[in-house]
Amino acid sequence: MITTDICIIGAGPVGLFAVFEAGLLKMRCHLIDALPQVGGQLSEIYPQKPIYDIPGFPAINAQDLVNNLLDQINPFHPTFTLGERVEKLERQEDGSYLITSNENTEIHCQVVVIAAGLGSFEPRKPAVERLEDFEGKGVAYMVKNPELFRDKRIVLAGGGDSALDWTLFLSEIAKEVTLIHRGETFRGAPDSAEKVFSKAEQGQINLILNANVAALNGNGHLKEISVVNKDKSVLHLDVDYFIPLFGLTPKLGPIADWNLAIDKSAIEVNTKDFMTNVERIYAIGDINTYPGKLKLILCGFHEAALMAQSAFKYVFPEQKLSFKYTTVNGIHAL
Ligand SMILES: Cc1cc2nc3c(=O)[nH]c(=O)nc-3n(C[C@H](O)[C@H](O)[C@H](O)COP(=O)(O)OP(=O)(O)OC[C@H]3O[C@@H](n4cnc5c(N)ncnc54)[C@H](O)[C@@H]3O)c2cc1C
Repeated sequence: MITTDICIIGAGPVGLFAVFEAGLLKMRCHLIDALPQVGGQLSEIYPQKPIYDIPGFPAINAQDLVNNLLDQINPFHPTFTLGERVEKLERQEDGSYLITSNENTEIHCQVVVIAAGLGSFEPRKPAVERLEDFEGKGVAYMVKNPELFRDKRIVLAGGGDSALDWTLFLSEIAKEVTLIHRGETFRGAPDSAEKVFSKAEQGQINLILNANVAALNGNGHLKEISVVNKDKSVLHLDVDYFIPLFGLTPKLGPIADWNLAIDKSAIEVNTKDFMTNVERIYAIGDINTYPGKLKLILCGFHEAALMAQSAFKYVFPEQKLSFKYTTVNGIHAL
């Protein structure tokens, strides 16, 4: 079991900055995110877009902001569980919380901070016969650990950046890689599409265009995929893994079941310290709502600062908090 002072659900920009504000007050943080990488919407939706309204940065590329936040919180040594979704929050007798993920990782903490943005990003599932029968048994919706696919026969499907990038990456380590796309042109970066076409010409990957995966077959584990071409002919491929990459869509998911006051898919908080209607559970960033709420990164940063000042009393009940500037106090590594 992981033990920490504050468990932050969501490692988007606001969850990351909350580590800094907590760290200034000597509170340790563990972050858990359903995605395999940190950065939330910035890394998942618009990593290469410039942001113009971060104070002090006339323009900053979204992924650079995430990298800067990681550098900024590094002295406080946060720990991470990535690629796992929080399912359960259980209050303990002493007021602390036990958090459990979909993979049964347990985190014990004094304070819970929900920085879950729009909710957890769930994969868009294509209409493929028996798809759900093979989830975790040959069907994967994200590449969490590329080593799993070493020397295996992989079929990917999709036409965006993820499908192109993972096809190129896995072609270096897998035994055989096939990319299936329902069109002839790709939505992803032209440079990546060109590389895929060139690798296909050289016989390093199999590229099947104008086709859809229709059904999966196997016995306990995925063994075969049926592909339907535009002319309705059917192709059967032997395969170890199928990775459909049709994008992610955010869902509030289990957060809706935690007895928190919710208004239109957002958690109601007070604006004094961004606590929810449940003591020791805070909500900051895009996931919360209050009169005048703006879903902006800078608003989430402000909320993180006030949350940390309030959470201090639960982590150090014996101590009195006195406010200090970083220019005066500096930063003391945890
Ligand atoms: C295209 C686009 C452009 C934008 N441009 C700007 C801009 O210029 N300026 C600006 O200020 N804002 C902009 N925004 C908004 C900004 O991205 C959000 O305000 C910001 O990402 C909110 O950060 P967050 O940390 O609250 O949530 P998010 O970035 O959404 O991160 C939340 C994280 O929580 C995780 N999560 C959710 N539920 C669970 C769960 N149950 N278990 C585990 N993990 C979970 C998710 O996987 C996600 O990684 C833009 C948004 C988009 C889509």
